[in-house]
Amino acid sequence: MAYSDDFERASSLAQRAVERMQTEGLAPIPENFTLFYAYYSGQFPDLTRAVDIARRDGASLSQAHCDELFKRFFTLDAEAQAIRETSERARMALGKILEMLNSVGTETNRYGNALAGFQGELEQPMSLEDLRAMVAAIAAETTAIVERQTRLQTQLLDSSQQLAEMRVSLDSARREAMTDGLTGIANRKAFDLALATAAQEAAADGLPLSLLMVDIDHFKKFNDTHGHLVGDHVLRLVAKVLTECIKGRDTAARFGGEEFAILLPRTELENALKVAEQIRTSVGSRQIVNKGRNVSYGNVTLSIGAAQHRIGEPLADTVRRADAALYAAKRNGRNRVQGEEA
Ligand code: GH3
Ligand code: MG
Ligand code: MG
Repeated sequence: MAYSDDFERASSLAQRAVERMQTEGLAPIPENFTLFYAYYSGQFPDLTRAVDIARRDGASLSQAHCDELFKRFFTLDAEAQAIRETSERARMALGKILEMLNSVGTETNRYGNALAGFQGELEQPMSLEDLRAMVAAIAAETTAIVERQTRLQTQLLDSSQQLAEMRVSLDSARREAMTDGLTGIANRKAFDLALATAAQEAAADGLPLSLLMVDIDHFKKFNDTHGHLVGDHVLRLVAKVLTECIKGRDTAARFGGEEFAILLPRTELENALKVAEQIRTSVGSRQIVNKGRNVSYGNVTLSIGAAQHRIGEPLADTVRRADAALYAAKRNGRNRVQGEEA
């Protein structure tokens, strides 16, 4: 993020950031400073909005909140860096196009002025020789502008092709960065982003948001018995069932290893439990088969924990409660759905 504040404004922003850390009772560490400097600079409306939402109803801002916001707004990984660089290239290509369009305007004006000049001269009586010379001059001006326009057109076409290519490569980079390679569903990073966005929307529109944490039961044993390749097949199957059991605005993601997470916006805990139950029975009833070799490996079962996000709480707390419910499901015998403790 680039700041363009002069010394005086920067000093004032820095002072406000330090004071804010004090009043919030937060440690004066660089991450917190960065966060509040950016907040007061007003240059990053998304960040300002996120801080204000977290502070709504006079709730205090915990270090966990700040860590989350810092991570969200200030850590750039290699992929994000690549995306930024491509955006910069796109910006430059656009600049070039605009420049060309402007020059088209200038050239056309010049041509127009030349024609107007000829028109003026035509009003005067002139010799055949003069007239011949003028027609030749008009033809030359016209040829010149047609040539220039053709050149510009080629350049414009070239730039727009470059832009189109950049867009395709950006789209695929983004998709790749957000997708789990094995199962093809959202990865952990995509999940974190979706959760942050969904929580912000929930805070804005006051609608509930629920989270399911899903873990395959005794999966180590399944792998040990049937091999990792069959295990990978199961992970893909579970991902497919999860995707089939959710609706358009929901997100199913591979959270890590053999754990999945499902985000259910506009859904209360009670309904989240129903979705979870449907997922559990659906996976449990599928036979894992290798059609080619006509072998069946039986089935796998799932344990699922569910929690509802409490508006304004750090997202890690929501995840922690869903995780705790998942472990309660494991303790209570596995192959079951468990809601968070009231
Ligand atoms: P529990 O019912 O308590 O969840 O038992 P579990 O065996 O499923 O849990 P544990 O955490 O002990 O083992 C998880 C296993 O998941 C270990 C590893 O073999 C398997 N696993 C994790 N990631 C992958 C993967 O990408 N492919 C395959 N095939 N297996 C994986
Ligand atoms: Mg596990
Ligand atoms: Mg497991």
